[in-house]
Amino acid sequence: MSTTVFITGATGYIAQHIVKQLLAKGYKVIGSVRSQEKGEDLQKLVESDDFQYVVVPNMTEPGAFDSVLKDYPEITVFIHTASPVTFISDDIKRDILHPAVDGTINVLAALKKYGDNIQRFVYTSSSVAVYPQGFGDTERRILTEKDFNPITIDQVHDAEGAYAAGKTFAEKAVWEFVEQESPKFKVSTVNPSYNFGPQAFEVKDKSQLNFSAEVINSVLKTKSNEELPPLAGDFIDVRDVARAHLAAFEKDEAIGQRLVLASEHFTNELIAHLIKQEFPDIDIPEGNVVKSEEQLQGLLWQLDTTKTEKILGFDYIPLDDSVVDTVEQILSVE
Ligand code: NAP
Repeated sequence: MSTTVFITGATGYIAQHIVKQLLAKGYKVIGSVRSQEKGEDLQKLVESDDFQYVVVPNMTEPGAFDSVLKDYPEITVFIHTASPVTFISDDIKRDILHPAVDGTINVLAALKKYGDNIQRFVYTSSSVAVYPQGFGDTERRILTEKDFNPITIDQVHDAEGAYAAGKTFAEKAVWEFVEQESPKFKVSTVNPSYNFGPQAFEVKDKSQLNFSAEVINSVLKTKSNEELPPLAGDFIDVRDVARAHLAAFEKDEAIGQRLVLASEHFTNELIAHLIKQEFPDIDIPEGNVVKSEEQLQGLLWQLDTTKTEKILGFDYIPLDDSVVDTVEQILSVE
């Protein structure tokens, strides 16, 4: 009998890739969505009898995930990806920080009460729970899987801070749960940097993609006579992120580990340069590699993720392939 995996936030950019890879490997998948309409849309995209959705309208309500575990005792793997990935809000704590934390606390509460059959739990954290983001740290540092963002609630002043704090506090709640409750099930977290790469399935509205996928889309929308806004960071392809989520519950080496995912650095200038190399006729800025290098020199924090790479044991998709695959998909559907 095949393993049944439950995934929260199944409509998400990363989650759809996880669902796709799970189904391709013969798992049965139950995904939570926020409305029946979203569930029906996803069901049509996924096109598999091994996928079904459940509606959890508000994950911040206490008991939000209790009935899922009660109704589907066959679930043995639980992946929690749902969290706001937005930076536009007039109430950053209500819209960004609290859902990230409260959703995770409700997941943990459901697991404690009704998680007898659960063997593995994977929480989708972020590299922002590793970097000292929002902390005002100006020291150049190399960070590893051991580092936690030291941000406190008093340091949350903007949407980026609320996102970083939400992901950090939620992940800390997961590890505190492990420490205090010693659950029977094994726990891992996946902490990706900026995700780029194609969408798993067709997207209805390509004008505005999910936050991180929109980085490449916004370079594509910039005309050759316009300036690219400076943006630099670490990248990982979304398909590798999904693969890491599967490895997180399939591999014993991943138990109790934070899998911090970063493949290469990126800048908007470098993305434009890579697009122009492959698609010279597109009317976007050339992409200045010298400027790109300067922007990368300004990055304060470098990640050393040797430990994660050893656990995962696969090579990451390089930035140029990720950019080309993404652009091809955007162009093919327009
Ligand atoms: P996404 O496409 O925006 O998906 C977010 C998912 O969470 C969607 O299913 C969304 O549901 C759900 N969600 C958002 N706010 C919610 C709320 N208040 N209550 C219930 N569900 C909510 O984002 P993504 O990039 O795939 O991100 C997935 C996870 O990866 C998140 O935990 C994020 O923090 C983490 N992550 C992402 C990146 C990245 O670069 N993309 C990097 C590091 C970590 P709807 O579809 O109904 O809105």
